[in-house]
Amino acid sequence: MDMQKIGAFLAELRKEKKLTQDELGEQIGVTNKTVSRWENGNYLPPAEVLLILSKFYKISINELLSGERLNEEHYKENAEEYIVVDLMKKRKEAKKRLVISFVVAFITILAGLSIVLLSSLLVAPIWLRILYIVFSIVVIILGIGVCCVLTVDAGVYECPVCGEKFVPSMKNFISGAHSFTKRKLKCPKCGKKSFCKKKLS
Ligand SMILES: [Zn+2]
Repeated sequence: MDMQKIGAFLAELRKEKKLTQDELGEQIGVTNKTVSRWENGNYLPPAEVLLILSKFYKISINELLSGERLNEEHYKENAEEYIVVDLMKKRKEAKKRLVISFVVAFITILAGLSIVLLSSLLVAPIWLRILYIVFSIVVIILGIGVCCVLTVDAGVYECPVCGEKFVPSMKNFISGAHSFTKRKLKCPKCGKKSFCKKKLS
């Protein structure tokens, strides 16, 4: 994305409407300084502002981000570029989910173990201790479940036999033995079961 070009285009659109930076800022609820930063290409307006501007100027977001009015052919080209940007965003999102799931897994195991430890230290009737242990096992299973949901479609797995990249089904995913970066999965293309490496895209 060419920030300078987008900024210049934003300024051009504003001038077409015969508005000052002040007046535009007032209309969309930001300061004239903010408008100036966008137009200088220092900042890209946030997504919600892009939406407002696109309605305000009756222009597509695609065109706003391209920094020009587009004809149909160009429009397609640029749309493809934004699909790529979108993919990059998804990749980032997947990374974030992986980190969260590791944190959840860590806390879950810590919580489960501390409950077990607590129950062994407590002078409590045997049924209460058993209840504690059952509870802690449920906590651990729930935590692992949350992690599975978070990570199953965060990124893809690559089959080492045929190189196919795929998202495993939840059942396949949960039942597969795994290490930190690999998981034993059945490849949907060649049907071989092997340790597939996790890839982010
Ligand atoms: Zn395969």
